[in-house]
Amino acid sequence: MRIAHLSAEVTPFAKTGGLGDVVGALPKAQAELGHDVTVWMPLYRQAWKAMRQRGIEPEVACEPFRVGQQQVGILRTVLPDSNVPLFFVGADEFFNRPNIYSNAPYGEDDGIIRYSLFVRAVFGAMHRLWNAPQIMHAHDWHMALAPMALRWDTPRDWVFNDTVSVLTIHNLAYQGIYPHRMFPALGLPPSVQPQVDWDGAINLMKGGIVAADVITAVSPTFAHEITTPDGGFGLDPLLRMRSSDLMGIVNGIDPLIWNPAHDRQIARNYDAQTLGAKLENRRALLRSTGMDPDDPSFVVGIVGRLTHQKGFDLLFPVLGDLIGSGVRFVMLGSGERELENRMHYYSHHAQGKFWGYVGFQDDLAHRIEAGADAFLMPSRFEPCGLNQLYSLAYGTPPIVRRVGGLADTVIGYDGRNRDEATGFTFEAATPPALRDTVLWAQRCYQDPMLWTQIARDGMAQDYSWRHSAQLYDDVYRAVRRHKGLA
Ligand code: ADP
Repeated sequence: MRIAHLSAEVTPFAKTGGLGDVVGALPKAQAELGHDVTVWMPLYRQAWKAMRQRGIEPEVACEPFRVGQQQVGILRTVLPDSNVPLFFVGADEFFNRPNIYSNAPYGEDDGIIRYSLFVRAVFGAMHRLWNAPQIMHAHDWHMALAPMALRWDTPRDWVFNDTVSVLTIHNLAYQGIYPHRMFPALGLPPSVQPQVDWDGAINLMKGGIVAADVITAVSPTFAHEITTPDGGFGLDPLLRMRSSDLMGIVNGIDPLIWNPAHDRQIARNYDAQTLGAKLENRRALLRSTGMDPDDPSFVVGIVGRLTHQKGFDLLFPVLGDLIGSGVRFVMLGSGERELENRMHYYSHHAQGKFWGYVGFQDDLAHRIEAGADAFLMPSRFEPCGLNQLYSLAYGTPPIVRRVGGLADTVIGYDGRNRDEATGFTFEAATPPALRDTVLWAQRCYQDPMLWTQIARDGMAQDYSWRHSAQLYDDVYRAVRRHKGLA
């Protein structure tokens, strides 16, 4: 099948979270299954930087052309370690900005304009390159215009006669909500505006959910949660209506990037058979944070965006208790100012026990996964979560709240299920629940046989993309059959 992925993030060219990792990896797994896959992303400043660092010179894919008033250029390279073509849409005014999700220079959130321009440019390039896919796979609200345009454009571009659309929801908390007056940016017929209207505004995720031929969410539990009032962020009635076209598929791990046996960013490579070598990564991590590298006390690693979703605010009220009980923390994250301030505060006032780095640093994320004893994710909601998959793969048992994809991927140790446990789980989104579970994990850590068994069982889990890529395959085939396309 010819498959095109459209995404606002693709690792290693631009990433703020799991979305980038997924779209950097899934297409490679699909190509290995024999599909003809392309990936499309904006040519951000970050992408130029990543290409420079890797010595990549993209080629011009077609003559520049206009989308409305805007001139766009299309460049082409491949996803690293693959032959999967990656196309960039270049339009400096919109994508050459300090951050991936920067506002316009005059301060307005012009995401709807940027990503509409992007989708329209992708359609234009596919037309010019004679390269229309059979599966147009759009990721998150940024790309939701793709299914909308395929369904509602009049006249519909004939090159897309054989194309069906798939919308994957990676995070429903972000929906792309803009004032009514910005509707024309989408380039859709005015008659379809009611399909995109939502609560006095326009909502791109809503429009995408209405228009897509099929919708996927990034784990089975999350796919269910978003159909409920608690997890639907207001879109649950619509998702319930479309529940027969909604399917949850858990994300996988890119084995070339997140693999302790080959990871070039960690001090010493290891696998389940040589787990002892993980100690060297522990020492290196602790040394780099100014903590005592030979102190055997329990080290908990944390990496993530500092947002309400991730639940890190649940940690700080009990951090003193935990430190008092001998738990140490190495934390990497950036986001909400209040949480960044907490990290600064404890790094200063609990030196040797808490070390926090505020920022986005990929190599440190790898070193924490490899060097910590356990990995904490107290998320309030978690569509899939990749960090717990990475920590499973690195023999660093995850301590997670049992929600969304975390519930689908981590089996908590409860004192009786030693043969199947891969980590530690708790239910309540409260500081005491978090504290008690970290202390429970710390107790288990004192029993090296038990701990090694839990870590090895986690490492033995198969979260390679092959299985999930096969499930996407099944979804694609089913929707094409349903639409009477071969
Ligand atoms: P989400 O997509 O909600 O952010 P995931 O767990 O699915 O959460 O994916 C997070 C990805 O982003 C992981 O690859 C993680 O290592 C990375 N990441 C998050 N915050 C940082 C950071 N501050 N520095 C480096 N990598 C980060």
